[in-house]
Amino acid sequence: MIVLDRVSKRYAGGVVALDDVSLRVGYGELVAIVGPSGSGKSTMLHLIGTLDRPSSGTVHVDGYDAAKLSDRELSALRATRIGFVFQQFHLAPGVPVLDNVADGLLYSGVPRRRRRERAEAALTRVGLGHRMGHRPHELSGGERQRVAVARAVVGEPAVLLADEPTGNLDSSSGAGVLELLHDLHRAGTTVVVITHDREIAESLPRQVRMRDGAVRHDSPFAPGGVG
Ligand code: ADP
Repeated sequence: MIVLDRVSKRYAGGVVALDDVSLRVGYGELVAIVGPSGSGKSTMLHLIGTLDRPSSGTVHVDGYDAAKLSDRELSALRATRIGFVFQQFHLAPGVPVLDNVADGLLYSGVPRRRRRERAEAALTRVGLGHRMGHRPHELSGGERQRVAVARAVVGEPAVLLADEPTGNLDSSSGAGVLELLHDLHRAGTTVVVITHDREIAESLPRQVRMRDGAVRHDSPFAPGGVG
């Protein structure tokens, strides 16, 4: 699903955020990326998500070489194959939850009515079928993050990338979001999640440990799928 081959990322000013990283994630895996702040976790997730390009090395996602795609093709790849969840939820304020989720399909060519039907199904899936008309500020942090997960998966992406999805949540809301990631994994979605929470990391089948822009430890390949 994801192949990073000898990937480096240098930012302007000479910061080497990733230094010769190679990583393979199979279809259906559930992987934690862990490591101290500044170790390159977000940079790696951005490269996997084709939000940014490497300084050197290659990134393949779902069989596509990201360097060989135009910006337009990359946008299409992201819209149809990759879902994102961020620590800060990034929901549109004042917009009903149903529309927030339906808008996850804006660039996929799905007609409006069908977008709303699928958003309803996604919200039901994350346990928020009774909150569709609410606005984000009327929801708890845990509920907002579940909305963000619903938006990320409404297009049925092959891979879900989550950057500290429980970072702003209390432990019980965080556990709910984590359970959701497990559900998606069981349903066949590949999930890559950045976390600094040791307990969460250790509850996942595979952990990739980063330090100073390099992979310092990787647990053995964990076959994905139903588990
Ligand atoms: P982590 O997610 O593990 O906290 P990051 O990938 O965000 O680490 O950052 C890795 C390194 O790259 C850090 O030293 C950070 O300051 C630097 N960095 C990240 N983004 C940028 C940027 N846009 N410009 C310059 N340096 C950056």
